[in-house]
Amino acid sequence: MCSSVNNPYLLLTPGPLTTTSTVRETMLHDWCTWDEEYKTLVQSIRQSLLQVANVSNEKYTVILMQGSGTYCVESVITSSIPAHGKLLVVMNGAYGERIGTIASSIGINWTSFRTEETHQPDIESLRQVLAADSAITHVAVVHCETTTGMLNPIQEISEVVKEFDKTYIVDAMSSFGGITMDIEQMDIDYVISSANKCIQGVPGFGFIIANRSTLQTCKGQSRSLSLDMYDQWETMEEQEGKWRFTSPTHTVRAFRQALDELQAEGGVSERERRYMENQNTLVRGMRALGFSTLLSDDNQSPIITAFQYPEHSTFSFDAFYNELKSRGFVIYPGKVTNLATFRIGNIGNVHAADIDRLLEAVKESKYWELTTV
Ligand SMILES: *Cc1c(COP(=O)(O)O)cnc(C)c1O
Repeated sequence: MCSSVNNPYLLLTPGPLTTTSTVRETMLHDWCTWDEEYKTLVQSIRQSLLQVANVSNEKYTVILMQGSGTYCVESVITSSIPAHGKLLVVMNGAYGERIGTIASSIGINWTSFRTEETHQPDIESLRQVLAADSAITHVAVVHCETTTGMLNPIQEISEVVKEFDKTYIVDAMSSFGGITMDIEQMDIDYVISSANKCIQGVPGFGFIIANRSTLQTCKGQSRSLSLDMYDQWETMEEQEGKWRFTSPTHTVRAFRQALDELQAEGGVSERERRYMENQNTLVRGMRALGFSTLLSDDNQSPIITAFQYPEHSTFSFDAFYNELKSRGFVIYPGKVTNLATFRIGNIGNVHAADIDRLLEAVKESKYWELTTV
């Protein structure tokens, strides 16, 4: 199987990612936005997302929001935290940091609980932070920290967050649809993701899976008009699939197709299995070539893997990147603060056979060398 048919290269980046040709084909038409047919499509997407999330329609609802994933994170932060509220951000990477930057830029009172990028947050210390600061009303955490590939313990965190009765926000951007999670059992109030990650659509909008009763407290609270999550929800709900402002019609069509393909693949658990196979194949092969992963295996998600630059050679990331690109594979630069790393994603229409071809290309690439054979 060759996923790069009709594509100049295979994207091994965590979104935008390699989509199927059937997802891309839906975008070859100009679709109208306002009529019943379109609104029915939008409603079907909202319904399907509840199914993918495995949550009930009574307890949860879905808001679709224009923009990239960050717009959705900002939408939740600006709309859900009241004037007197305080946000605690659990951080161990760039996407956690970004939530703090969002809070600062809109003047929300916030604090952080920081852990090294290569470590999971310590739950007992988190409990102490919450016990010591009763002003905190909301807690946000990134599920898969795409910076490193770290899978954060959202289940254990939920237990502490709910023990202190806080609102729980999870940035599941790069994990939703690709990793099974029990949102209802964890009592997450807002789960955020976007079209171009594990659902395998194209960029243009994101979505929020919101606890209905928590969402009800957000009316009139947003500091932004276009990012007002409550307003967007109210229009979508009352006008049955209408977006307040121009919707990304091509992306929405592609997303419907991508959801159908997720279901045809066997749902989230099957997709997770494929991603795990990709990741296992990748790590086994890269280790055999002398590369080391940044994270220990027990912290590693099946979404993306960070590798350290080889120590022993005159390794150049740019040259390595260009060489692999010319061979049909686009990898991703590193993002951790104090170690030289690069990243390889496993998500998208990518299969173990593609990873085998990548490993062959890495092996043949002349920009790194094994010193010990
Ligand atoms: C991709 C991603 C985002 C959103 O990034 P955008 O560039 O705005 O789409 C946010 N959080 C995580 C964990 C991500 O992986």
